[in-house]
Amino acid sequence: MAETPTPPKKIPIFMNKLIYEIDTMLDALNDLMLPASLADCFEAYRGDLLKKACRRQLNDNHRSWFLREISLLRGEPITSLAQAFDPYLHISSGCDTLPPGTAISLPPLPIAIVDTIRDCGELNGLATEEIDRLGSRLSMYAQDEVQNLGQLALAGYVSDLALPTRDSMVRFIAVNASAAIEKYLLDNPLLWSAVPRRHIQFPDMVALRHKQLAEEFALKTNGPLCPNRQTCYTDEEIGIIANDIRVAVFLPKPRHLATCRSCLRRILQRQAVVKKYNEVGERKFNDRPN
Ligand SMILES: [Zn+2]
Repeated sequence: MAETPTPPKKIPIFMNKLIYEIDTMLDALNDLMLPASLADCFEAYRGDLLKKACRRQLNDNHRSWFLREISLLRGEPITSLAQAFDPYLHISSGCDTLPPGTAISLPPLPIAIVDTIRDCGELNGLATEEIDRLGSRLSMYAQDEVQNLGQLALAGYVSDLALPTRDSMVRFIAVNASAAIEKYLLDNPLLWSAVPRRHIQFPDMVALRHKQLAEEFALKTNGPLCPNRQTCYTDEEIGIIANDIRVAVFLPKPRHLATCRSCLRRILQRQAVVKKYNEVGERKFNDRPN
């Protein structure tokens, strides 16, 4: 007999409020976390650009309309603007293993590939289809709304391309955010290996976050942030915290953990090593001859 599916549980209102508050807190924390890799630095920079564009052009209604349009374009649920306009083309950049820096090399944007490879009928046909599809959906939006969406896309892709007309905005969004074009390009890497990669310079985000952290702290406590709090844990301290994270509260820089991705990663790595070591030890113990 087929099992009767259990209806999804309704989340009580107070839980929804709590989830919202936790999300907001995590967002705020994320803004202050010190970047620990090149990918973190670039994401922090991109996040700031998107936030600035959102502050200028977005209310909550617009945000949900825009996310709905990009979800329809991609044929999958998109929950954030950073995810909607992804300059890595939704593939791993490999930059999360590189140390923090102020310059990054990224794959070319699909629009640059379409503009360069003009003799590929299949790619150009796909682009025209996606532009028409998004264009007719966006026809219900006012000029300034399409312009806002275009500005958000430029911020998300960290592009300074000039988009003077409504058509150029629609084209930029449709070609870059289309999942079908992205898949076609990933399936045919030879097509675009001749198109130059993008090289983007950006400010020192580690220094900027340090500065913001100190300012935020001074604002909340009327006093300067003790430099000690911004110094990373020693290897010995990492070992102690990895063993029992509650110990972090008793160390001289208790809140450092909440602001430093690098130390957080070091602790997680240490915990993984200890776990592995224990597993091997346990196996050896169980396999011993009686
Ligand atoms: Zn640290």
